[in-house]
Amino acid sequence: MASVSVSSCLNKAVHQQYMSLPQGGKCQVTYIWIDGTGEGLRNKTRTLDEEPKSIDDIPEWNFDGSSTYQAEGSNSDMYLIPVCMFRDPFTFDPNKLVLCEVLKYNRLPSVYCLETNHRASCNKVMEKIKEHSMWFGMEQEYTLLGIDKYPFGWPANGYPPPQGPYYCGVGADNAYGRDIVECHYKACLYAGIKICGSNAEVMPSQWEFQVGPCEGIEMGDHLWVARFLLHRVCEDFGVVATLDPKPMEGNWNGAGCHTNVSTKQMREEGGLQYIEQAIEKLSKRHLEHIKVYDPRGGQDNMRRLTGHHETSSINDFSAGVANRGSSVRIPRQVGHEKKGYFEDRRPAANCDPYAVTKAIASTCLLDSQEEEESE
Ligand code: ADP
Ligand code: MN
Ligand code: MN
Ligand code: MN
Repeated sequence: MASVSVSSCLNKAVHQQYMSLPQGGKCQVTYIWIDGTGEGLRNKTRTLDEEPKSIDDIPEWNFDGSSTYQAEGSNSDMYLIPVCMFRDPFTFDPNKLVLCEVLKYNRLPSVYCLETNHRASCNKVMEKIKEHSMWFGMEQEYTLLGIDKYPFGWPANGYPPPQGPYYCGVGADNAYGRDIVECHYKACLYAGIKICGSNAEVMPSQWEFQVGPCEGIEMGDHLWVARFLLHRVCEDFGVVATLDPKPMEGNWNGAGCHTNVSTKQMREEGGLQYIEQAIEKLSKRHLEHIKVYDPRGGQDNMRRLTGHHETSSINDFSAGVANRGSSVRIPRQVGHEKKGYFEDRRPAANCDPYAVTKAIASTCLLDSQEEEESE
């Protein structure tokens, strides 16, 4: 097995012996943050004397931003501001995982290399639209790779049989790497992530999990930690999860992060008219949304949104009931019941969920003056 990492080949029985030692009443807290690439996640761990009961019991911390593409060496101390706490599925209770926002030396959101702290501005918009109870559900697609960067389980110098049997498939010839999917699902549930499902995708070694419904800022928080858990579980198995929106060129599906959206009005009787209003607003801002639906201003999504493989063209906006070739889809059942939610199919798998949910909330629910105030 040349394509799995060396650390996954270490003796796991020995590891287990130490992991089951009592920890003297102390609590390990792992701080997690988004690095300067806007995609990478970093983490480090410290000991607290007592188990924190809520996020308010977790102290601020700091790190060296010059090693994460977030600051220059001469002024590199960055603040970690805890925002959301989960149980740690790797070292178990009472230990915690804590998602953090990154602030720079002047305590403003980190914007050094790329603007990577989108949470602060997302949160402002979500506070403004609170009365609408906007719910999101995101479908995170990803692809498993060996450490040779080639899809996990694909023949070394070739390709598996063409797409067809893999989506929701079962059997050794159809499902590549289910162990990882199952472990990640359980890890999310243990941690307290609002994971609501998973399935095998159209391309072999491609999978999806769904998180939601989550209200407001919770969407980004839960999806980012679910991604951390995915990378961490993959590490244990010695493989890599990539969120690249088009990992394999040719007749292979890409990977998206479909974003499902509803407001209180849309969910109530006759809500379809509010869904149609929102879609009308989205149609007028197609390119602005494409710019924030991947970390490179649309460049990554260009490889994916071709109009083929269940995608729409990157250049045009389209919408339709049950149409998986459109930018925005109204699920068949929603068209039928005349209430529910809509699905924005454009976000790439490597999108920042804070940037995506902020753009949708702001386009659909804010007027132009309110938008300016929240910049
Ligand atoms: P698809 O048919 O597009 O593959 P999935 O079952 O994978 O759909 O995902 C459906 C997503 O829609 C889930 O993330 C779920 O949380 C979300 N969802 C369901 N109801 C709502 C709602 N009322 N508002 C927002 N999101 C919702
Ligand atoms: Mn799905
Ligand atoms: Mn899918
Ligand atoms: Mn979908």
